[in-house]
Amino acid sequence: MPDTFSTSLSKSYTTDILVIGSGSAGSVAAIAAASGKYKVTLVERYGFPGGTSTQMLDTFYGFFTPSETPRKIVGGIPDHVVNALNHDGNIFLRPNTYGAGTGVNYNPEKLKQVWDNLLSESGVQTFYHTTLVAVEKADESARAIFFHKGAGFFSITAKRVIDASGDADYCHWAGFEYEKAGEEEPAQSMTTTFRMCNVDLEAFKAAGGKKMLKEKMAEAVDSGRHPLPRKEGSAHEMNQPKCVSTVAVKVTDHDALDVERITAAEKEGRHQAFIFEDFFRVEVPGYQNAKIIGLSHQIGVRETRRVYGEYRLTKEDFMNARHFEDQIFLCGAPIEDHRKSPNGGLETFWQYVPGSGVYGVPYGTIVPKGSKSTWVAGRCFSATHDAHASCRSMAQTMSMGQAAGFAAVQSLENDIGASELDARKLRERLVQEGAVLDIPDVVADITRNGWSNNKTS
Ligand SMILES: Cc1cc2nc3c(=O)[nH]c(=O)nc-3n(C[C@H](O)[C@H](O)[C@H](O)COP(=O)(O)OP(=O)(O)OC[C@H]3O[C@@H](n4cnc5c(N)ncnc54)[C@H](O)[C@@H]3O)c2cc1C
Repeated sequence: MPDTFSTSLSKSYTTDILVIGSGSAGSVAAIAAASGKYKVTLVERYGFPGGTSTQMLDTFYGFFTPSETPRKIVGGIPDHVVNALNHDGNIFLRPNTYGAGTGVNYNPEKLKQVWDNLLSESGVQTFYHTTLVAVEKADESARAIFFHKGAGFFSITAKRVIDASGDADYCHWAGFEYEKAGEEEPAQSMTTTFRMCNVDLEAFKAAGGKKMLKEKMAEAVDSGRHPLPRKEGSAHEMNQPKCVSTVAVKVTDHDALDVERITAAEKEGRHQAFIFEDFFRVEVPGYQNAKIIGLSHQIGVRETRRVYGEYRLTKEDFMNARHFEDQIFLCGAPIEDHRKSPNGGLETFWQYVPGSGVYGVPYGTIVPKGSKSTWVAGRCFSATHDAHASCRSMAQTMSMGQAAGFAAVQSLENDIGASELDARKLRERLVQEGAVLDIPDVVADITRNGWSNNKTS
């Protein structure tokens, strides 16, 4: 750690469990960790919780398997999040047998408040506008250095740490090993999402809906009328009336961990978004009077660092729909890889889980190799590029957070290191909370606005 940090530390805090990043993984990790008798501190670089879930998206995927007979394969604290949204009418289900399966569409602005409330009710101490910038000691007891533009540098000493920063910033500073996306296989592209308001959805549907949109995009690209980056992209109805959320922009060949490249990517993402706005207004029935009302808070980054854990999830596990004795959650999401095709085009490659359509994810994927006091949760977990391209939906990142939070509690209770933890005890705790660890026999009842908590106790 540079001397300048130690000499200018304005304050020091201590905590039992420190969670870095309040995305879907980190927020759930903190809530789970606070279920014990320990002090939990959550630190987030932006002024609101949720990470990707509130910065740019509005649909949880991964709760249901994508098939004619969908199964609900995630439960526990992720259910509480959806229940809280549902309470005020802020979700609807988008039944879908293909793609990533049925999605839980939510109001992302309301979700910020839901995360705030769940964190406060759980007693989590939260620091917003605070960025992790260095780690002094990584194991036994960690001393992490943070920066807040008003307070300057300050430290938090913790007995246990959950790195849910997405970029594995803590693991990077602490010296854990990881693979950087793009080093071995092409990194997934980045996307600035945007929302359009005042869309006449009836006129859009009457003119052919999504099928028509796809044809219009292809025509626009082929004719050269609009320089769209690709011929496909999702535009779907939001919780807010007459509003549509769009995941269409594709920015490739940039490194999200390099300050110059991410700056260029942000500019390129905004540039593409307004090309799309022009295309929608000119070419797509129902959009003539629509306008962009918001761009994502930052460009969406699908992968950066993936830590090497006690276990590394692979494409083989996916292809064999493998299950593990120590699995801590399930995944049925397809590989959805946003990358360049061999001819240079920007396409999305899909591949579905064969057989049962569901695989299990073992405990070792959230434990950095040899770790005593650190876990990872969310998109920086231990997986290869392909396996990660399946196991990154938010129902799964929330499930990782849930397991990491309970694991940190059990590790303190039993005074045992992360890699020595008894996964059977962790699984018992997860089941008690309502987590789904085995494929359910029953087909999920997917009805618009229907939701139920599958808590078992
Ligand atoms: C464009 C795009 C579209 C997607 N579409 C869907 C979809 O429709 N449905 C779905 O289920 N999944 C989707 N995904 C995947 C899914 O959203 C992500 O995999 C998931 O949200 C990652 O969650 P996370 O908590 O691991 O990371 P993040 O959501 O990235 O959270 C990390 C948090 O850590 C904070 N942070 C980072 N560094 C620091 C630091 N040094 N100090 C303090 N705080 C820090 C960040 O600000 C952030 O809040 C999409 C992803 C992208 C990028």
